[in-house]
Amino acid sequence: MHDTYSCQDRSNRKRRLYVYNNFISNQMVKKDKIKCDICGKSFHSRKELEKHTENAHNTTANNIVVKAIKKDFKISHRSLAIFIGAGFLAAIIGLALIYSGTVSKVSSLTVDGIQCNPSEQLLFHVHAHLDIIINGQYYLVPAQIGITNTCYYWLHTHDVSGIIHIESPVNRDFTVGQFFDIWSKTFNNGQIKFNNHQIFNYVASSSRPLSVYVNGTKVPSTINYRDIKLHAHDEIAIIYGNPQSNIHSNYSFPEGL
Ligand SMILES: [Zn+2]
Ligand SMILES: [Zn+2]
Repeated sequence: MHDTYSCQDRSNRKRRLYVYNNFISNQMVKKDKIKCDICGKSFHSRKELEKHTENAHNTTANNIVVKAIKKDFKISHRSLAIFIGAGFLAAIIGLALIYSGTVSKVSSLTVDGIQCNPSEQLLFHVHAHLDIIINGQYYLVPAQIGITNTCYYWLHTHDVSGIIHIESPVNRDFTVGQFFDIWSKTFNNGQIKFNNHQIFNYVASSSRPLSVYVNGTKVPSTINYRDIKLHAHDEIAIIYGNPQSNIHSNYSFPEGL
């Protein structure tokens, strides 16, 4: 049975034996003095020494363990707080990103259901031409309408020729009104107005009418000009003020368009 003692048991036994031997030898010299072999403190009885050993030395060792555990707990508690804090922050950032992404996709970029995509959508690709004549003067339709730093609207212009590129992933109808909305959106002023009574800041009157011609044919003013559809190779002329004598019935598109 003695062989099954653990290492600590053995050392305890050894120490007790040493204390006891010390006690015996001390008893032989000084009847009333017993020394602690750990710290050297003197005691009057073996019981006192045992109590001292238990309290002063064993407890100290236990305290170290307790302190270490407490310290560990403190660290993990702090880590947990940091972890929770970081998680919370990440969740907020994540929600903000999702929210801003949703907003920009749905309301910031899309115009009249027309998306702005990172690349040109060439499944449905046709071209129409737009002339704008204000009081007898040609108004230059800007390049890059519907083209931003990051994306292409399905309706856009590449140059100042007045050619409207209709480049869409779906074969569907697009209108003059939608083109003006994208124009307004692209240049971020929201002030590119077009309807049956006004183009830009020019308001129609009896002396300065606003009329639209498609392939040389006048569109009745009872039709909403904004709803005029853009077909392949249409020549659309928007004329404000002085009546035009030579209204184009077609436009010479470059080869391939
Ligand atoms: Zn094109
Ligand atoms: Zn294009």
